[in-house]
Amino acid sequence: MLLDLSLEEITEYALNLGLPKFRGKQIFDALYKAKTLDEISNLSKDIKEKIKDDYPNWEIVKLLESKDGTKKMALKLLDGSLVESVLLSYKYGNTVCVSTQVGCRMGCKFCASTIGGLKRNLSAGEILLQVLLYNKILGGTEKERKVTNVVLMGCGEPLDNYENVTKFLKLVSSENGLNISERNISLSTCGLVEKIKKLADDGFKVTLTISLHAPNDEIRKKIMPVANAYKIKDILSACDYYFEKTGRRVIFEYALIENVNSSEENIKELGKLLKGRSCLVNFIPLNSIKEQNLIGVSRKRAYFLSSLLEKEGVNSTVRRTMGEDIEGACGQLRNKLGGAT
Ligand code: SAH
Repeated sequence: MLLDLSLEEITEYALNLGLPKFRGKQIFDALYKAKTLDEISNLSKDIKEKIKDDYPNWEIVKLLESKDGTKKMALKLLDGSLVESVLLSYKYGNTVCVSTQVGCRMGCKFCASTIGGLKRNLSAGEILLQVLLYNKILGGTEKERKVTNVVLMGCGEPLDNYENVTKFLKLVSSENGLNISERNISLSTCGLVEKIKKLADDGFKVTLTISLHAPNDEIRKKIMPVANAYKIKDILSACDYYFEKTGRRVIFEYALIENVNSSEENIKELGKLLKGRSCLVNFIPLNSIKEQNLIGVSRKRAYFLSSLLEKEGVNSTVRRTMGEDIEGACGQLRNKLGGAT
């Protein structure tokens, strides 16, 4: 698929088809404006015929808007897979939350994205397409882009799809393309230790966000099967390694669930665990999904626990929940249509 390729590779592709070099640039421009093949006006029917099997094909099957302005898109890909992504608009810019897999095999008990398991990995171009489409919706182009930030926090575990995800990071931050700096990209992971180190070794400098959700391994195992494979201690060492190599402060996400991980004792233990680190804890009152009976704490309680953690000497914030009414909030994305309409 052409969106998996860089400008140089697309130029080479055009040359291989016997087309002049500038046609490569025209194809690239059309891709980055998220034009469908039909919408391209500067390529002849003949050329379109030649590239049609490689040109991306998609259908936006749903575009919902929340009361707070958050948008959620359901995208149907060539093989019928459905992918959801979210646009969060803030005063300072527009953040696109992309999915990296169709489904997910991590099995976190509180997350809708993992219900039904992993269907397949998304290619780099399929991840990029989500950003390009929102840029188009916002009236941007590749030169004057409207999307300012990207978070890899939709469906899927990004580090479980390492090759495609890192290729996506290169494409989306490329000067020829959207040129979104790695400083403005956050990658969220449930903590695949070797891959965190590899990301640093491979020279990436995105903001690393760890889904921690527990102050110790026992509690973590109850809600995250991946905790059986990786100890918190080893995840923290990998974070140290990432910080040393990149100088980027690591963020820990912590979904507050009643009677699971949100007692004062739990937060004090979390304080002891993280004290002295250059990090930030981002609390999220759990968003409910209909398949499970885990309950999130109130926002008031979240603020209280956040201040408690601050007293323990660890920086923390409570994440603003956006898009909950359209099931576009953290942990609510799926690969099936349904939920709010
Ligand atoms: N697989 C990656 C990225 C996806 S989710 C990861 O595990 O980090 C983005 C964030 O939302 C993660 O921190 C995830 O744990 C959290 N999350 C999942 N379900 C949630 C829910 N129901 N309520 C609040 N946060 C949730």
